[in-house]
Amino acid sequence: MTNLSKKLEILGESAKFDRCNYINTNTDNFLANKLPGIYHASIRDGCTVPLFKVLMTNKCSNDCRYCVNHNRHNFNRVEFSPEDVTSIFLEYYHNQLVEGLFLSSGIPRDPEYSMENMVEVAHKLRMKHGYQGYIHLKILPGSPYDLIKRAVSLADRVSINLESATSEGMENLSTTKNYDTDIIRRMKWIKKLLSGNKQFSPSGQTTQFLVGAGDETDLQILEKADWLYKKMDLKRSYFSPFEAVKDTPLESHAEPHPKRSPRLYQADHLLNSYGFDLKELVFDDDGNLNLDRDPKYIAALEHEEKYPMEINEASFKDLLRVPGIGKISAKRIIQSRKAGKNILKLEELKKIGVVIKRAEPFIKLNKNYQSTLEF
Ligand code: SF4
Repeated sequence: MTNLSKKLEILGESAKFDRCNYINTNTDNFLANKLPGIYHASIRDGCTVPLFKVLMTNKCSNDCRYCVNHNRHNFNRVEFSPEDVTSIFLEYYHNQLVEGLFLSSGIPRDPEYSMENMVEVAHKLRMKHGYQGYIHLKILPGSPYDLIKRAVSLADRVSINLESATSEGMENLSTTKNYDTDIIRRMKWIKKLLSGNKQFSPSGQTTQFLVGAGDETDLQILEKADWLYKKMDLKRSYFSPFEAVKDTPLESHAEPHPKRSPRLYQADHLLNSYGFDLKELVFDDDGNLNLDRDPKYIAALEHEEKYPMEINEASFKDLLRVPGIGKISAKRIIQSRKAGKNILKLEELKKIGVVIKRAEPFIKLNKNYQSTLEF
């Protein structure tokens, strides 16, 4: 095995704890292809896209307690040069093994040094090799403004990991990263840069929360995500479940319930895509979502006075709040009404995509109850 191949195996493996897509929560996506660094990122409709996902280096001077690269871990540390990453990526790309690049890095010296190396890779690919495909660059906490500006001018998407919903939460995870100055301030810069130039990172900025590494509640996490959508023009949040990795200070820390992250994704989707207000979601006394039922169903039960809802009279906004009715089916119901056609049978709703089993107890069709629900 060449020196470069060894590095690739180590740094491709180290990159797997960063999420780069909405649906995937499974590190096995790295195993789908035996070649190191190739990651099958899930996109919508069950499709996957192979990305070259790698760290520039696993050397790091930070002490993030959840991360295998933390500064006190004595293990094999290696580093790629920008030329290394560029040549491996192009080889994979020209052999049609990958369709894009997702690049991150440890921070061995200062953020400027590591960010400069990452930007250099993107610059070489775009300017020297004429590569026009997908590039996602991680913005490292504490990176200088001019390098962030260069990064957004070269990448399709940028992201900076928040990990924690509060600055106190971050203090418990790392003594070397400052939540407000190293992360939130950089997010503000990115927002400003992107809003001033449509050419810059057209897919916008995203972030990742590390769910269960600290004691933050679902409410705190969703409040922060909601704030980021409104104030930072965030495109998407990832809710990655904390994994207790061996040889980290948190190796004995309990991992979150397997349903916690999926419930956060569902709640986030209601806020970000269905126009729900945070106040409409239901949390238990500890500030967490119900793990047994999805947040939309629980919210509907909480507002029993609205149900059963007359499908042929409800607004688009109200239809979206009915379990089993999604955006497409709500649109079709409204279109049908505008065309002068009332929906009279469950069979018709089924045809336009409504999940009848879920919707039935919450709806009326031409004033007729479809089934009853024990509230
Ligand atoms: S900055 Fe923190 S999370 Fe990133 S590589 Fe270093 S120790 Fe790991």
